[in-house]
Amino acid sequence: MKDQSFPEIRSTCPYCGVGCGVRLRADGNGGLDVRGDPDHPANFGKLCSKGSALGETVGLDGRLLSPRIHGRDASWDEALELVADRFRDTVARHGPDSVAFYVSGQLLTEDYYVANKLMKGYVGSANIDTNSRLCMASSVAGHKRAFGTDTVPGTYEDLEEADLVVLVGSNLAWCHPVLHQRILAAREARGTRLVVIDPRRTASCDGADMHLGLAAGSDAALFNGLLSAIDAAGAIDDDFSAHITGMQDAIAAAALDDDAATGLTRAQLDAFYKLWIGSRRVVTVYSQGVNQSTSGTDKVNAIVNCHLATGRIGLPGTGPFSVTGQPNAMGGREVGGLANTLACHLDLENPDHRAAVHQFWDSPVIADTPGKKAVDMFRAVGDGRIRALWIIHTNPAVTMPDADAVRDAIAGCDFVVVSDITAQTDTARLAHVLLPATAWGEKDGTVTNSDRTISRQRTALPAPGDTRPDWDIIAEIGRRMGHAAAFDYASPAEIFREYAALSGVAGTLGRDFDISGKAELGDSGYKTMAPFRWPFTQGRQGGRFFADGQFYHDGGKGRMIPVRHRAPGSTPTADTPFRLNTGRIRDQWHTMTRTALSPRLSAHLAEPYLEIHPTDAARLHISPADLVHLHSPHGRAILRARLTDAVQPGDVFAPMHWTGETAPAARIDALVAPLTDPVSGQPESKASVVSVARF
Ligand code: SF4
Repeated sequence: MKDQSFPEIRSTCPYCGVGCGVRLRADGNGGLDVRGDPDHPANFGKLCSKGSALGETVGLDGRLLSPRIHGRDASWDEALELVADRFRDTVARHGPDSVAFYVSGQLLTEDYYVANKLMKGYVGSANIDTNSRLCMASSVAGHKRAFGTDTVPGTYEDLEEADLVVLVGSNLAWCHPVLHQRILAAREARGTRLVVIDPRRTASCDGADMHLGLAAGSDAALFNGLLSAIDAAGAIDDDFSAHITGMQDAIAAAALDDDAATGLTRAQLDAFYKLWIGSRRVVTVYSQGVNQSTSGTDKVNAIVNCHLATGRIGLPGTGPFSVTGQPNAMGGREVGGLANTLACHLDLENPDHRAAVHQFWDSPVIADTPGKKAVDMFRAVGDGRIRALWIIHTNPAVTMPDADAVRDAIAGCDFVVVSDITAQTDTARLAHVLLPATAWGEKDGTVTNSDRTISRQRTALPAPGDTRPDWDIIAEIGRRMGHAAAFDYASPAEIFREYAALSGVAGTLGRDFDISGKAELGDSGYKTMAPFRWPFTQGRQGGRFFADGQFYHDGGKGRMIPVRHRAPGSTPTADTPFRLNTGRIRDQWHTMTRTALSPRLSAHLAEPYLEIHPTDAARLHISPADLVHLHSPHGRAILRARLTDAVQPGDVFAPMHWTGETAPAARIDALVAPLTDPVSGQPESKASVVSVARF
């Protein structure tokens, strides 16, 4: 019988960007009972396998419970003093850009806000970037080019109100399962058509009307083909086009592309174009398969162009829709946790925006040039330009492309601080100072999901050992670096109010992100705050953007961007003839520090593997379950072969979850080339070239 003596706490699942609401009840023995929150607008009570196993993952196995300096336990006072000292000293001797923070979409918004404020307003550098750079930076850049801001136009309801949902580079069934279930339920109820565009046949193809197994990286050729077909069919929305610039240039660029580059048949292409053009309500959902590319931003704009040309945006059941990987990737975007953004969707390059943030923070400086994006940041660590690095809740020694080089760069850095909940990670091993942070279930703050809904994460368990919340640790460093008043926060509620007030300043400067209607929220209001979708001002709450044809570029118009298809950055050679696609599996999350604690989650796919087409396997004398050796110019791995025609001949797929701690030979990102999109800086994690051989 469940212990009812503990109150039920409303919180949010910490895994993916769907942002499902959960109800938590402590069991009195350090564990949690978890159920879906029937009142949360993201999931209405549903949970996927990962969310429903949350209660099995809150134990203290492997937890970092006290500060450590060079491997020995230390007091908070000693550790914080050392960190503040070394950062202050490094800035004094080598300048603000000699230090950096590499943070995470696992941070709560309040944590993110304080870290961003410290780096951009008080250190005076924009060298703060996040692992969300690996997840959705191309969407941010594509949105800003098209809309003038990083705005997700629609809502989850649009997926249910659409006549046609197109999934591009998204295995939604595994990576955003509850959202996928919402689409399938709508399909059942009202016959929504479903198209999946992915080189790989994934679980998301089950029950879809159409799967277009296009060639890796050819999404822009496909959507340029669609734009040409829209034009040829006379399906441009003439009324809406009055609100758009760049249409003729985008159409002209699209006409130069040949959709044969997709490798799809004429019949497949024409069937897709006809279905898209013939469906008034279309939502095009895209994710890592689009973003993680050296042409990711152009792919995003190729998709957005089709929606702008046809006015399929801002109306019920329409719009391009970026789904984010992490629980708070969106919150990080909103607080400016990227090296090239300011808080509240203000622009680092805009002097008026910089001045507004500078004045609001009353800070000694404000960063005025973009900082180093993730891949460049670790290059700068490697060559000594960055001499002090603080890594917060992420494991770049495993998850960055060219991970061996990143691991070596961190190992060679003068001073490395890692804040984490886990004592032994590939990155934590390299730290000079380890700072123990509270984990999900123990911490308190807000997150934003993929449809702009801001929800609370709440404390349901006591903080174990000497762990402290991230906002508290970062603020303490800010105080010890000499900025006592600016970082004198007593609670996440106080940080949230400051953030909401700053968003009001952003609103007066014409930005989309404005939650100033929450700026006066008291502590009890914050405590009980229900999920709400931004914007949230006196005059406007939630809803869709752009229905009125008003965008955020000067002149108020949206922009179609001329783009051309480009092949992936790495070209297969005789030595490395395969294209390596990396991704997630259904029941694991990132580097498995939490999900691996659940036996039932680990039972789904228990070991690292490589999907390879049977014809390629036969040619290489590889049988099912053989070990295979992968090489790339950057690294190597040994995986177990799974023969499947879900991947195309010449393509292979491997999950990205295993680490040096869990499977030393299977750190798959060690093979990934550190090639990035020139606009967004997002790495191409889905099209590196490798060799495959039987082990
Ligand atoms: Fe958590 Fe995402 Fe699953 Fe929802 S869909 S329960 S947010 S992992």
